[in-house]
Amino acid sequence: MLITASLLLMATDLAIIIGGGLAGVTSFYELSARDRPCLLLESESAVAQGASFANGGGLHPSLPDPWNNPGIGRHLFSSLFRPDAAMKLHISQVPNLLGWGASFIRHSRRTAYEAITCANFELAEYSTRQTQALQQFLNLDYDAAAPGTLKLLRSTRDRDEALRLADVLTVKGLACQEMNRAQMLACEPSLRDATDLIGALRFAGDGIGDARRFCEGLAAAAIARGGEMRLNSKVTHLLVENGKVCGVRLGDEEIRGIVVLAAGVSAARLARPLGLNLPIRPAKGYSLTLDASGQRDRPKHLLVDPTPHIGITPLGSRLRILGMAEFSGFDRKIDPKRLAQLRRFFTDLLPQLAEKLDWEKAEGWTGLRPMSADGRPLIGQSGIDGLWLNCGHGHLGWTKAVGSARILADAMTGREAEINAAPFSPDAVARRLR
Ligand SMILES: Cc1cc2nc3c(=O)[nH]c(=O)nc-3n(C[C@H](O)[C@H](O)[C@H](O)COP(=O)(O)OP(=O)(O)OC[C@H]3O[C@@H](n4cnc5c(N)ncnc54)[C@H](O)[C@@H]3O)c2cc1C
Repeated sequence: MLITASLLLMATDLAIIIGGGLAGVTSFYELSARDRPCLLLESESAVAQGASFANGGGLHPSLPDPWNNPGIGRHLFSSLFRPDAAMKLHISQVPNLLGWGASFIRHSRRTAYEAITCANFELAEYSTRQTQALQQFLNLDYDAAAPGTLKLLRSTRDRDEALRLADVLTVKGLACQEMNRAQMLACEPSLRDATDLIGALRFAGDGIGDARRFCEGLAAAAIARGGEMRLNSKVTHLLVENGKVCGVRLGDEEIRGIVVLAAGVSAARLARPLGLNLPIRPAKGYSLTLDASGQRDRPKHLLVDPTPHIGITPLGSRLRILGMAEFSGFDRKIDPKRLAQLRRFFTDLLPQLAEKLDWEKAEGWTGLRPMSADGRPLIGQSGIDGLWLNCGHGHLGWTKAVGSARILADAMTGREAEINAAPFSPDAVARRLR
């Protein structure tokens, strides 16, 4: 009888985490590190096979602004007719995005946009520091470096816009240095052939690292702390009894416990049968990864060009080019024209290096960013007993992963968060949809 009671306690105390991407694996580690019994369920045969597989690798608190910036409505409308638009709405998706899209556009008002930018910055900054601390504590190997970001400027208009955002954030602690062309070349000589650049903003606090390798290392660390992980394990339903979530179903099998939904773009589908309308939709992005070993003139910084929304990240001996946001549903097909766009961008910026790289062996990839309608992730208690959320991290899921998982784990274990977590509270999902 005693044994049955203690098993029951174990089962209800168990935290079942759905999803082995950045959000799920960091939650798995942070809960295990707080001695919470944990089970990570991932539908694929390895962790980080979704959006966390070959993302841009940037840990960049310097870019915390949501993508629904003022004026986004006009931009999205015109993108319907421009196949190469960096952010593109596909006409076939308009009916699927009606409610979400209206909320996305509503939150692009300047006051909302700036408030969310500041909240995101605080989380991103906290998270980046915690990621670096974890890397040192666990000695994780994932091509981690902290060279900083260069936001490239091609016109005074670019500069004024970039400075307007930086000014909002420097009062919050963002380290930003404005550089003219000569100063930029002194710190990043690889840009010497990009004659149209007038300078850059340098954000020294940003880091980089390979998110997939980070997830692999962190999952192993969570298992070493007693966590259990099951791969090839797809959750088909959440179990609900008396209005409470009490576990998950995987085909014929049931597992009981408290559930953490960290399933990236699939989170909304899993929550829908509960009447919970999570404001998360997929935004498809591309990356192209090249071997650059032996190339001494490869860039050292994370390079971000705000006009075409494309970036280049040095990841150890590799270079990764990333960009695009397409609202095209759950389709992950690679469009070769998009990869050609990334290559063209790289060649214009770094022509000499481009000639030396083997583009035949470049690895093209697409991933679906889990975009929330207002640009904030959902972290914490869902409003339904037994269900917690860590999802909707959009274009900043690597930057915010460790910080978000710490907020979640603190809340689940009754501790106070180390930063103000209120802006990310899913309690307010319904309010956030209005
Ligand atoms: C091109 C691109 C570049 C990016 N660059 C950056 C960057 O430089 N910096 C940054 O901060 N962010 C970046 N991001 C965003 C970041 O990668 C994402 O926000 C992050 O990966 C989301 O992590 P996640 O764990 O929420 O989702 P995912 O990584 O997609 O993980 C979700 C997991 O859940 C699993 N799953 C789903 N349904 C089920 C189920 N029913 N049962 C079990 N498992 C399930 C999936 O298989 C998947 O492994 C980029 C994204 C893209 C696409």
